[in-house]
Amino acid sequence: MQDDFSRRGMLGAVVAGGLMASASVASAQTAGQIPQPSRGPGVGGTDPVPGGLSRARENPDLINPPSTDSGTVPNLRFSFADGHTRQTSGGWTRQVTVRELGISKPIAGVNMRLNAGGVRELHWHKQAEWAYMLYGTARITAIDAQGRNFIDEVGVGDLWYFPGGIPHSIQGLGPDGCEFLLVFDDGEFDEDSTFLISDWFKHVPSDVLAKNFGVPASNFGHTPDPKDLYIFKAPIPGPMPADRLMGAAGVPDSFSHRMMAQQPLKTRSGTVRITDTSNFPVSKTIAAALVEIEPGGLRELHWHPNTDEWQYYIEGQGRMGVFGSNGQARTFDYQQGDVGYVPFAMGHYIENTGPTPLRFLEMFKSDHYADLSLNQWMALTPPDLLAVHLNLDKQVTDALQKKKSPIVPA
Ligand code: MN
Ligand code: MN
Repeated sequence: MQDDFSRRGMLGAVVAGGLMASASVASAQTAGQIPQPSRGPGVGGTDPVPGGLSRARENPDLINPPSTDSGTVPNLRFSFADGHTRQTSGGWTRQVTVRELGISKPIAGVNMRLNAGGVRELHWHKQAEWAYMLYGTARITAIDAQGRNFIDEVGVGDLWYFPGGIPHSIQGLGPDGCEFLLVFDDGEFDEDSTFLISDWFKHVPSDVLAKNFGVPASNFGHTPDPKDLYIFKAPIPGPMPADRLMGAAGVPDSFSHRMMAQQPLKTRSGTVRITDTSNFPVSKTIAAALVEIEPGGLRELHWHPNTDEWQYYIEGQGRMGVFGSNGQARTFDYQQGDVGYVPFAMGHYIENTGPTPLRFLEMFKSDHYADLSLNQWMALTPPDLLAVHLNLDKQVTDALQKKKSPIVPA
């Protein structure tokens, strides 16, 4: 009793100190309090020396896991807010790679901001680059190996894809530049070690540059330092027609795509838009789904038969339960700016636990999107065979759906 009383006293002091600003705690048990690792009477205990309070509040399902969680599952969440932010004259960038999220060997992500006019320097890299525009507008440029030209302007919900080795640039437009997510088909990708045009110029002797371009060597030797370019301030460019390159044919398959313009697959509880080589042919190594789940809705129990899933949470709050075979299961909580991960073939669901829509991207290092629905599998299995497995009553078997519903209630 005495302990309980003084604990409440301490909580009151914390509230008064303004440390309880976040009301966005999913679990009623932890709302407005210091989360205590006890999911019910007789399980767990209090935490007399709590640490990482904002973390604890963001992770109600790690502090108080569902009793169905068990065993060891690797970490499947990393927030861009936990990454180093590189700031330059033209904007900023941060990344979540295999160095931050160790399990993510096939995919790395970058979150980048370009101020109005800010340029991501002309460059290329070994990895293919897939992008989703989160904010504002940008102009992107590239050429392919056949000397064909690409220029486009992209806005929120648009994608681009540059195959490995293809040189490109990105520039923030008016009035307020842009922010976007980049996804690379290699977890080892490092945004800080790409092939920059200024870096190459800086490391070729002037007489070689002179011979290459057929002009006197005196033209060279004043290349800006690559660390001053990379992402740098520049004037907002003029209208696009003035920028279109004269005389060059366009690339046959566009490097950009309007994902939000796609007609979504719709259920009562949400929408799904799938983009892969079937509708964005150039995107040969990254397939994606943009998922929106209404409050209380559930991305149904499913898995993917082709590869790991890399997720980016655009807005809202949710939790994902992952089943890793052999009795292993763990539940993770996600919010805006988080990266989530599902190792190949592991079963999972994602539930909207917040009061607003949950929007996220599912990404795959693949040329196609594919998933398997637990519900559909059971519906398409001979009932007698199913009956000897799970001890289910008729209400459950009658409710099984032969048609897939990615978001439920459908
Ligand atoms: Mn790039
Ligand atoms: Mn999935």
